[in-house]
Amino acid sequence: MYILLMGPPGAGKGTQAAKLVDKFSIPHISTGDMFRAAVKEGTHLGRQAKEFMDAGQLVPDSVTIGIVKERLAKPDCKTGFILDGFPRTLEQAAALDVTLDQLGIKLDRVVNITAPDDELVKRITGRRICKGCSATYHVVLNAPLVAGKCDKCGAELFQRGDDQAETVTKRLEVYQVQTEPLISYYRDKGVYAEINGLQPIDKVLDDVVTNLRGNRT
Ligand code: ADP
Ligand code: AMP
Repeated sequence: MYILLMGPPGAGKGTQAAKLVDKFSIPHISTGDMFRAAVKEGTHLGRQAKEFMDAGQLVPDSVTIGIVKERLAKPDCKTGFILDGFPRTLEQAAALDVTLDQLGIKLDRVVNITAPDDELVKRITGRRICKGCSATYHVVLNAPLVAGKCDKCGAELFQRGDDQAETVTKRLEVYQVQTEPLISYYRDKGVYAEINGLQPIDKVLDDVVTNLRGNRT
């Protein structure tokens, strides 16, 4: 199954992707995770991406498209993938079409998880990530069993540098201007579905899975 997860920052894409990986045994490809890993490793890519990420802006298409193209050509993508956070611009969407054509892949569904801005701000500013396995928590809405520690691997949790309130406003603005136009792009292709993200995590998952299996939510 070839799934594209869309939605504003904080809507719950990463949270749902982790659950869909367990359900469908296909890889989760998150450009945000790829950039964060590159920044951590101090690679050339990481140095290119960091200033844009810190400012809440998009990493240039010329950089982003290349890494996704390379990743999608790997053998583990042959039976499916969950693409999260890409594409984010019309140029990225057009490049993705070309890449998928070359690979002989057709997207099954573009799932857009929605939530209002005030909820997104609350979710993003309370988000915590595991240093060990990158699992995602929220200090209140999705709290770990032991504060500051990952339920799965016990490692420490941290707050992303770009999850501070000042940067969040910019990221929401960037989403509206640069990424929202993709909604009509995919709607026109007949693969688009919208899921209400303002529900408990497991209910959102139910709705996503029902939709992927071809039923209405
Ligand atoms: P995205 O990948 O879209 O940026 P995340 O999956 O990282 O979003 O979720 C953002 C924050 O909101 C995290 O702290 C996560 O634990 C929390 N969260 C995700 N889905 C829900 C939900 N349905 N209800 C409440 N909190 C949620
Ligand atoms: P995310 O983890 O999806 O919230 O992404 C974190 C940051 O990584 C974004 O604010 C961007 O700076 C950068 N990023 C992730 N995906 C993309 C993309 N498809 N295009 C451009 N920049 C991206």
